[in-house]
Amino acid sequence: GPTIAATRPLAAQVGGHAGIETTEDNSLLIKPALPREIEFYQRIAAAGDHDELSKLRNWTPKFLGVLKLEGQLKDSNAVGDGNMEIVPVHGNIVSEDKDIASRFFLSGPAQRLVLENAAYGFVKPCILDVKLGTVLYDEDAPPEKQARMIKVAHNTTSGETGVRFTGFQVYGNDSSEPILTPKSYGRSIKKEQLPDVIEMFFPVSSAPYPIPPNFTETSDSDVSKPQSGLPAILLHCILTTLQADLEELKATIANIEMRMVGGSILIVYEGDWERAWKMLSMPSGTATIEEEEDDDDEVEVEIDENGQLVLESIPDEAIEEEEEHQALLCSLSLIDFAHTRLIDGAGPDEGVLKGIQTMIDLLRQRKDKIAAML
Ligand code: ADP
Ligand code: MN
Repeated sequence: GPTIAATRPLAAQVGGHAGIETTEDNSLLIKPALPREIEFYQRIAAAGDHDELSKLRNWTPKFLGVLKLEGQLKDSNAVGDGNMEIVPVHGNIVSEDKDIASRFFLSGPAQRLVLENAAYGFVKPCILDVKLGTVLYDEDAPPEKQARMIKVAHNTTSGETGVRFTGFQVYGNDSSEPILTPKSYGRSIKKEQLPDVIEMFFPVSSAPYPIPPNFTETSDSDVSKPQSGLPAILLHCILTTLQADLEELKATIANIEMRMVGGSILIVYEGDWERAWKMLSMPSGTATIEEEEDDDDEVEVEIDENGQLVLESIPDEAIEEEEEHQALLCSLSLIDFAHTRLIDGAGPDEGVLKGIQTMIDLLRQRKDKIAAML
């Protein structure tokens, strides 16, 4: 039967609760989720084209379906013979993989969302999770929690600006390992320091270095790499794109009646300057990736003739034509809807809009500073 190939913990998780898994090829995420978040993704998926909500599909990670556990764990040490059921956006399939099923059983019976990994395809994904909103408690949270979260909003940048930086990761140019700044840092700073964090997340290479006008991979040896950061012109391009995306996202959210508590913007950009440079020189700003070959089977996701989602392993010989994936210079997504509600008549979430505007202003400020270096 169809199966999800082996999964492993998501390495590039910069915030939130541990427990997000990724498929072997890193393209999909499996996130333990509360019913409210699952319902939200389902509502977005089902929204008709004339429904404002459908526009959120441009900004949320692609939603492939829900992974559900069936069957029971016989005793705490034994692996249940239950199957994992993937309930896709449309239709139904049952997937069996004892190994994975046992892991999911042992970590509890919660349902899992299957989402596209926003960092997939990036060579050095620089990732920033920005918590949005001025109100950090759910209306049905216990009073103690509400009181605590009112204090948190007051004592952090959330209350005044509608943003709080959660974790972020960047790369040095000589390392393939990311440098992670934990969420405690974002919690500790004042409003005045927000631009400093943006500067840490979007570092310009310290020394100007020559990039041959007709840059090719083989000219690598002619170029001396600075220790960290991207060339100003690349960052300028990334910031311009992200700023335009944020404006569009803001316009979309202004038309949706919702309350988003604890949700985030997830920004990803390419920190590998060779690859970023290559991508900038492509006419559409995109390129395709030739994926590394390995001995493991690839996972293929498709909808079959009955409208059902099929996740299956495909043998290596068959993947020759599947090896191309569209790559990006940067991406912006809205994530984490564990405490998001759609409420007719409530109007837009002003705290979230405020946060998006704060990000627009911060990115513009950074862009102007970088423009002066060009
Ligand atoms: P939590 O409810 O635990 O805060 P989130 O949905 O915010 O869960 O996810 C936690 C972290 O996982 C994010 O900060 C991000 O690093 C990563 N993540 C979540 N969703 C995606 C996604 N679709 N693509 C890439 N990374 C993601
Ligand atoms: Mn989160």
